[in-house]
Amino acid sequence: VTTFKGKTVALFGLGGSGLATALALAAGGAEVIAWDDSASSVENASSAGIRTGDLRRLDWKAVDALVLSPGVPLTHPKPHWSAELARAAGVEIIGDVELFVRERRAHAPDCAFVAITGTNGKSTTTALIAHILKASGRDTQLGGNIGTAVLTLDPPKAGRFYVVECSSYQIDLAPTLNPSAGILLNLTPDHLDRHGSMEHYADVKERLVAGSRTAIVGVDDSFCERIADRVERAGTKVVRISKRNVLADGIYADGPRLILAQGGATRVIADLSPIETLRGAHNAQNAAAAVAACLAVGLSEDEIRAGLASFPGLRHRMQPVGRKGDTLFVNDSKATNADAAAPALSSFERIYWIAGGVPKEGGISSLGAFFPKIAKAYLIGEAAPAFAATLGEAVPFDMSGTLERAVQDAAADAEREGNGPVAVLLSPACASFDQYKNFEVRGDAFVKHVSALPGVSMLVE
Ligand code: ADP
Repeated sequence: VTTFKGKTVALFGLGGSGLATALALAAGGAEVIAWDDSASSVENASSAGIRTGDLRRLDWKAVDALVLSPGVPLTHPKPHWSAELARAAGVEIIGDVELFVRERRAHAPDCAFVAITGTNGKSTTTALIAHILKASGRDTQLGGNIGTAVLTLDPPKAGRFYVVECSSYQIDLAPTLNPSAGILLNLTPDHLDRHGSMEHYADVKERLVAGSRTAIVGVDDSFCERIADRVERAGTKVVRISKRNVLADGIYADGPRLILAQGGATRVIADLSPIETLRGAHNAQNAAAAVAACLAVGLSEDEIRAGLASFPGLRHRMQPVGRKGDTLFVNDSKATNADAAAPALSSFERIYWIAGGVPKEGGISSLGAFFPKIAKAYLIGEAAPAFAATLGEAVPFDMSGTLERAVQDAAADAEREGNGPVAVLLSPACASFDQYKNFEVRGDAFVKHVSALPGVSMLVE
């Protein structure tokens, strides 16, 4: 990053992306002084060659910018002390995504940059867009909130495509975020701890699309609907998407088919029905957004359809991992509460459901609407007795105890049914800590137990 060459930058937060940012700034000739509340992070940064020091003792008049890591509070519940010091001295406060967009503007303003935000579906949509671009042979960089810090990606250059997932924290710290295509998928009350109110949270998300050359907005909730209207009135080109309503203009889902409505005409632009990794209405929303973004950055419809069809899906999120006859084995280990399990339960018609672990408040009582589709439940972990009580007479269940046992019994019962397509679905609606380190380890264990079943063809490594 050369936009701060010769300038002094204070940086707070030395986790993974913070350290990467400090190194990128220093490599570009900035005078960096970094700090963190954790002594081991400070030590780590020092040994990587970063100058460290308590920012409370800094002469803030000599500082050109404060760079904060995502998650360090900027406003709510109370600004971090470093943000207060910077504000008092009139020093601008930015994050790594802002450093990236300035770099792009300085060196390759025309390189395509797709930014994605929303309450749900960000990672899926980000991964899908990057996959479509890569599959079409474009030089593609994928990063941001999805895992790879943007400043560790290859630097901006003409012909390169960036696909960046942005959390509200990152948008808040990126005052000049102006992507070629900006996506706002949906907005539901969430993360209000930092942003204080739904209005402020929505305002932050709106900024991402307001600054986009093409704004792509999911209009299935009232917040986003209003944002689409407002951004359009301000003169930005808006592409509306919907997973459930017919649109006069935009891209909407009619079941698994995506319809492009333009200039009074409509036609099918993609058919998702054969694509196992993009099942369900929520994925129709993600896919519609991806189609709109890829069109906006110049891909052909054929390239887009080819990329959609070969999308491998994201691990642990409704991921098809194996098949045996009519039974599809699905790993949705990321579903650590009932809300997160709902999309998977709504996406399959007949389900052998593996659930349990450490329950969240409310358990699975909100999932009653799906109970008629559940052929049988296999309960594991601490939540088993409570879930059994909720299922009661409505759904047959086994107290399986372990995931291994649950997989074996569910597979045998599903095979015995022999009456059309069924899913053996791990969508636990629980945290994993009673039996596994985290949801990834739990999902990997599920894959291992599935691959040990006789006669299963695995769809993943
Ligand atoms: P995020 O990155 O926003 O957390 P992910 O793409 O990782 O979202 O998806 C996490 C979970 O959220 C998925 O397993 C699925 O249950 C649900 N989900 C995915 N896309 C959507 C969507 N468009 N709307 C609502 N829920 C979704």
